[in-house]
Amino acid sequence: TQKIVANAEKMEGLYHLAAAFGHEVRQPITTGKGMLQLLSDDSLPTDKRIEFLSAAISEVNRAEKIIQDYQVFAQPYSNKLERFDLVNEIQKVLNLVEPLTNVSNVQINTNLSSAWINGDKAKIERCLIHICTNAVEAMDTGGILTIQSFSTTENSIIEISDTGIGMTKKQISTLGEPLYSLSSRKGTGLGMMMVFRLVEGMKGKLEIQSKVGEGTKVTIVFPNKKLLKDAHTHIDKEFVY
Ligand code: ADP
Repeated sequence: TQKIVANAEKMEGLYHLAAAFGHEVRQPITTGKGMLQLLSDDSLPTDKRIEFLSAAISEVNRAEKIIQDYQVFAQPYSNKLERFDLVNEIQKVLNLVEPLTNVSNVQINTNLSSAWINGDKAKIERCLIHICTNAVEAMDTGGILTIQSFSTTENSIIEISDTGIGMTKKQISTLGEPLYSLSSRKGTGLGMMMVFRLVEGMKGKLEIQSKVGEGTKVTIVFPNKKLLKDAHTHIDKEFVY
């Protein structure tokens, strides 16, 4: 019956998520463990000891960061909603992404107008960093990363475009599904899943347009009215002021 199919699909999503989590978190833990094992050697010179110790700490930090990312799936609804202009967050993200664009020979173009929203700054930043990083990675041989922001009476909108390799319709439709990655060389496809979930948690919508060989445009649309959230019921109430 339909119900059983739906449940099976849900379970499959859960299996994928659990497998992806295990896959991602295992690596830094294994590396960290290796470093700690090396440290048990008494004859190790101090400089090596310091080197292994700091490597072990950075692996533990990496594992911690992955765990934090996964907690987002469990709790996408923000309890830290504040009103801010997306322009400031975009600028911050561009400063973080700039070293990556320099290495990849990517030029950044911006056209930023005020776009106020009610959201969680840290979560927006995570989304923007991820989308921009994907965009830069799609431009192996250089290109242009364009970021625009503007508002309409109803919405605040961000558009992130790249002139990279682009995606097919099928590739776009599977984006945001766990364990899906077009390039098998890296990742688990969880990045966009996190982005979709976070944007949705802030009442936003994500739209992706892409053409193979031409590039990709990611549009995020947030309502610009103030939203009040009832933390216990997860029911959002609209509050216009
Ligand atoms: P991953 O961690 O594997 O990058 P994502 O969910 O962020 O996971 O993306 C899944 C895949 O979708 C990427 O590996 C990449 O192949 C493709 N992709 C995402 N964004 C773009 C883009 N702007 N242009 C081309 N391909 C993209």
